Amino acid sequence: MRKDQILVTYGSDLKRMAGELMAAADVQAQLKSGMRIALKPNLVVAKPSSTGATTSPELAAGIVEYLLEYGFKDIDIIEGSWVGDDTGRAFEVCGYRALAKRYGLGLYDLKRDATVTRKVGGETLTLCRRAAEADFLINMPVLKAHCQTALTCALKNMKGCIPDREKRRFHQAGLHGPIGALAKALPPQLTVVDGLCGDLTFEEGGTPVQMNRAMLAWDPVKMDAYAAELIGLELSEVPYIGIAERLGAGSTQIGGDTVIELNRAEGGAITPQATRRVAHLAAHVEAFQACSACYGSLIHALQRMDEAGQLGRLKGKVHIGQGNRGKAGAGIGIGACCKGYERCVMGCPPSAREILAELTKER
Ligand code: SF4
Repeated sequence: MRKDQILVTYGSDLKRMAGELMAAADVQAQLKSGMRIALKPNLVVAKPSSTGATTSPELAAGIVEYLLEYGFKDIDIIEGSWVGDDTGRAFEVCGYRALAKRYGLGLYDLKRDATVTRKVGGETLTLCRRAAEADFLINMPVLKAHCQTALTCALKNMKGCIPDREKRRFHQAGLHGPIGALAKALPPQLTVVDGLCGDLTFEEGGTPVQMNRAMLAWDPVKMDAYAAELIGLELSEVPYIGIAERLGAGSTQIGGDTVIELNRAEGGAITPQATRRVAHLAAHVEAFQACSACYGSLIHALQRMDEAGQLGRLKGKVHIGQGNRGKAGAGIGIGACCKGYERCVMGCPPSAREILAELTKER
């Protein structure tokens, strides 16, 4: 894998998937004996990962087992939950206290950490010391939507590495500029994304959508550029990504060979999550043995349409799923399985942005 590429693996066993990604990227070749390695999950609130809010401890377990196998034992879990929540409670509820005990890891609440400052352009950022001084920082965000910044994935997850007073300053400054600057001030060496079931609309969970994937990237800016595409957002809708790129923190360029898929999306019928919001969107879908990765992309695309008041433009139901293979049909189908439909968004799975572009085409 090149440093400007992104690895994707589909499935639901995050521990296995994390190990697979680490091995495929040959991460151990970038590490030196005695390095202090810090894992930074997203534990923004004290809610389990099944709610769509937080990083699954299974993703961390897969990374930790890979590191231990190569003899890297100095591993810490670091996080500072959002202002108003208690990181210790999040460690407990999200399964990280048990994880640390099982593997002998350090567990650090960054709200209690000392701080250091770094300048980016004219701006001074205050960072938590354990994050700033780690030799190898592994960022472990959840792929999910956010009510203020539209997307939260690689870059925004690093906000857990600043003290609460700095988090307040970020909000006063409108989030995008400071998050872009943070990408330059505190670049993670590696990003491994939990894309199993991030939230559809809010960072605090409650509307999880199965996307059944995990991803790895060396460049967090590129990771976010791809993450935006996956949930149906244009880069212009997530300004901090472009700001980070302009500051030299990475690149948003995604070419034909940027994304490497290690396997294919898993088959099998899925049951839409029983939240009212997802059920409202799923009412526009005719699914027949759809993979979660495909179905999740469609739900994100429909959510973006709903936010723009465009759901009424749909004429009939949208078809999706392996059960449509070899069938011809009127209307629109999602994914390569539906190539017999009058209109089809190819891909296996297609991204929400590709689906959105087709569903909102003027006809
Ligand atoms: S196109 Fe078909 S096989 Fe591919 S992800 Fe979608 S439903 Fe699954």
